[in-house]
Amino acid sequence: MTDLHRLSIREMAEGLKSAQFSSRELTQHYLNRIAKIDDRVNSYITVTAEQALAQADAADAVFKTGNATALTGVPIAHKDIFCTHGIKTTAGSKMLNNFVSPYDATVVAKGKTAGLVTLGKVNMDEFAMGSTSENPFFGATKNPWNLEHVPGGSSGGSAAVVAADLAPFATGTDTGGSIRQPASFCGLTGLKPTYGRVSRFGMIAYASSMDQGGPMARSAEDCAYLMNVMAGHDEKDSTSINKEVDDYVANLNGTAVKGLRIGIPKQYFNVQGLDADVKARVEESLKKLEDMGATLVEIDLSMSEAYVPTYYLIAPAEASSNLSRFDGVRYGYRCENPTDILDLYKRSRSEGFGAEVQRRILIGTYALSAGYYDAYYVKAQKVRRLIQQDFLKAFENVDVIAAPSAPTTAYKIGANLSPTEMYLGDIYTLAVNLAGLPAINAPVGFDANSLPVGLQLIGNYWSESQLLSIVHQYQQNTDWHTKRAAIAEENA
Ligand code: GLN
Repeated sequence: MTDLHRLSIREMAEGLKSAQFSSRELTQHYLNRIAKIDDRVNSYITVTAEQALAQADAADAVFKTGNATALTGVPIAHKDIFCTHGIKTTAGSKMLNNFVSPYDATVVAKGKTAGLVTLGKVNMDEFAMGSTSENPFFGATKNPWNLEHVPGGSSGGSAAVVAADLAPFATGTDTGGSIRQPASFCGLTGLKPTYGRVSRFGMIAYASSMDQGGPMARSAEDCAYLMNVMAGHDEKDSTSINKEVDDYVANLNGTAVKGLRIGIPKQYFNVQGLDADVKARVEESLKKLEDMGATLVEIDLSMSEAYVPTYYLIAPAEASSNLSRFDGVRYGYRCENPTDILDLYKRSRSEGFGAEVQRRILIGTYALSAGYYDAYYVKAQKVRRLIQQDFLKAFENVDVIAAPSAPTTAYKIGANLSPTEMYLGDIYTLAVNLAGLPAINAPVGFDANSLPVGLQLIGNYWSESQLLSIVHQYQQNTDWHTKRAAIAEENA
């Protein structure tokens, strides 16, 4: 079969179960596509062909014993921020280019238990800091819709593999938009869960109070399948919440939109820099939801001007602390011929970290230093609370909040935005992480250059099932999520 990559996750799982094809055939199909197509996309850092085929054979054997789970034998790609036992785990950094993890992240382990087949590990912004996946060490990942454009980031490799059909779905992480923005740039569905829903154990830390793993796939239904694997309490992550997990697939329904009150923040649609095509497509999608029975309600999110400065203090502060462990001594990159211990620290960190990571460490260290801590870090934490309260107040009157996922579509590789221009591109995603809320991106059309546009829906805490159902119902009534980039139409 030449078109196995066109199947939805449900169809793939059914095809495996009814022995229309084996997991080995399916896995080999993806490995062939990766071999033929990925040198143009540059999405994989590591392809684990041998292990994948062994896992596929094991999955095929499980079908014979009758112990298969819902996803036994389905392939997946993991963002290279998730530790994988025996497989190189780099977090997209030269610092970890020689790091082979001695254990699996909980998300990876859960994937194995569910019978998923790991195709490999995919590119990202270094340590998840960035929005373009123009990685200083592993090179830029390309947007499958236009190879001269970025796929977004930091989970740009995860978005690119799915959009180019080099994996049926992928794990991502979202600290300030890194699932939603690349999903938006690549025409995919991506869910950032409530903080604490998905274990962070074995997920290399960027900003621990906001980091959250989640699924990236073509549709809400595909995401629901992966959420069923990823979600759950984990005693190895003290911030993971011990709360019953939904069956996200079973909960998908076709009635989520009727009577839904969608908040439209009046501050969000007059933002300077909001692209006219993005605005138009998002408004059309909201009109569609209105036609399907939703009500649009204008709301006030008065803290919106504080999102970017607050995030860009707290995230670097946490990053500077988290990244202090990479000292060239215990593991990771070590400079050559250090003259003394100070030289070893200095050169290992200067040579091992890229420019953006170093910038964040500097900003974060400054914000945390004695004398500035109260003025910057503590103040930012207070503002963070106000931002959260803004949302909680809004949710007294509406069920979900709509916004673009990003003010623009994917820009060109090498656009070389200044740090502040780049940070402003995160305006629509950061508040969700500051508040710990769940949010989803859904593809809702294209701009004049045929690049995808995304709608973001922000939900109240633990509303993942609701968000998935709303997008699922929208996708049953539209076909944006079925559109494929030309490169995905190529056969291996
Ligand atoms: N673009 C944002 C940043 O650079 C968000 C990244 C993320 O979510 N990991 O920090």
